[in-house]
Amino acid sequence: MLDISDVLASQQVLGTVPVYLNTPDAIFSQEILQELGQTRLELLEKVKNDDPGASGFLPLLFDAEMDAVSHFLLRVLCCNDGAASIWMIDAEEALLKLRWEQASDEEQCAALKQMNFVPESQGPRSRWVNLLVTGESMPYAVSMPFTDLPPKLLAERRCKLRKGLATVERQDFLPLLCQCFRRHLQTVLQKSGQHVELLLRDSEQLKQTVDHLRPQLEQFLLSSRGDEAGVNLQLSNFQEMYEKSFPPCMQYLVKFQRDGKHLKHLGRKQLRPLLREAGLPLEEALAWWRREFLRDVTVTQESFDSEHAYHIKHAYGLEGKRKPAYGWSCWRTLDQMQFPVPKGPEAHGCPFKSLEEADLRELLRQHGGGDEVLTQEVSPPVGLAASEQICCARVFQSRHPGSEFEAMKHPMQFLRRSHAYYAAQLAGEAEASSAAQVQVMKENCVPNPKKPRICRKPLRVAQLDQFDEYFQFKK
Ligand code: SF4
Repeated sequence: MLDISDVLASQQVLGTVPVYLNTPDAIFSQEILQELGQTRLELLEKVKNDDPGASGFLPLLFDAEMDAVSHFLLRVLCCNDGAASIWMIDAEEALLKLRWEQASDEEQCAALKQMNFVPESQGPRSRWVNLLVTGESMPYAVSMPFTDLPPKLLAERRCKLRKGLATVERQDFLPLLCQCFRRHLQTVLQKSGQHVELLLRDSEQLKQTVDHLRPQLEQFLLSSRGDEAGVNLQLSNFQEMYEKSFPPCMQYLVKFQRDGKHLKHLGRKQLRPLLREAGLPLEEALAWWRREFLRDVTVTQESFDSEHAYHIKHAYGLEGKRKPAYGWSCWRTLDQMQFPVPKGPEAHGCPFKSLEEADLRELLRQHGGGDEVLTQEVSPPVGLAASEQICCARVFQSRHPGSEFEAMKHPMQFLRRSHAYYAAQLAGEAEASSAAQVQVMKENCVPNPKKPRICRKPLRVAQLDQFDEYFQFKK
């Protein structure tokens, strides 16, 4: 454990808003590094989940140097993993907000000024143009190119625009700082991947520290992905979701196996992470895949256990690199390098590209229509979306009447939107039925024509001191 008295004696971070622009020049033992990394992971998870217990952890990060070291250690841990990077950026932003609330005006101002001079990759236009300092230490407003504004401030009209410059007032400085901090963190996490690989190759101790922290991070990632992004897919609702909410690519892969055909490597590689991302628990995934594989007479229970079960666990981050696998985006599914055109008994890829028109129509018809969109023109193209993504978006609209058009970017986008659509429909129906019930109750509630009986005689009350006498008299 860290010695808190040493920590308290050193430069404190409490009351400041660190934005971590410079790497600390410090040397710590491997045990302290592991302890720091562990503490920061737990702190970030708590802060991210808005857990009031988070404040109990803050004393361990009192020291500015240790705080910075723990931050940079987590950068090393997260930079080569997309989901981990997102988790870290969100959690660090939450911590920044918490520290901002506790900091003085001077410290807030110091953080703002530091971010102002970040050499951003976007060039000098992204810098804040001017700090309008009045007599106070904190500027009352800053001006900047309006294109650099956080979209929230622009959408809520919380700035003044003049000649391409936006002036943001003091109460909105935190969103500005958060945006700069997030961008900076995103950029450094993206850029440092290769450098970190080399660093880990050269330093065995750092590699061991990172390996030590990874299982805990994975635990946080699995739980947070399940809550936020999954659609709670389970064996009990699998059939319903397969029919109503799966995108055509997933429906085709599932159907292919159900027809007794053996799903080849690329098809399995495409479907496994999608089912995991949709929230199917590992035990249920093993049961489901076993059932599907064993439809094929050439697959035995032993071959399933020895070969396929490993890959399923691998997708859940329990084998190999111990990173959960994420579904392939539409763009990558359409990429010939990743998913070449299926040959013979293969079923992978995007059906809008890989299937013959007759087969595609049949697939769409079997799952609630949408095949009429195949005859519609797909021009003009929407942004960078391919015609297959636009067709898929139209199928979504046709299956979910009243929904908005949104070019499909990821199969999980189809699944999540569909899930949200039916959830909203269910909530609307429940509201309508409870309103109808209230109406029926109101109609049935005819006022009683009879007048209530009123007793006009004085009520006899036995007083406590007369109770015995009264009771005997009554007997
Ligand atoms: Fe699946 Fe995307 Fe193709 Fe739709 S466009 S079928 S979601 S890969």
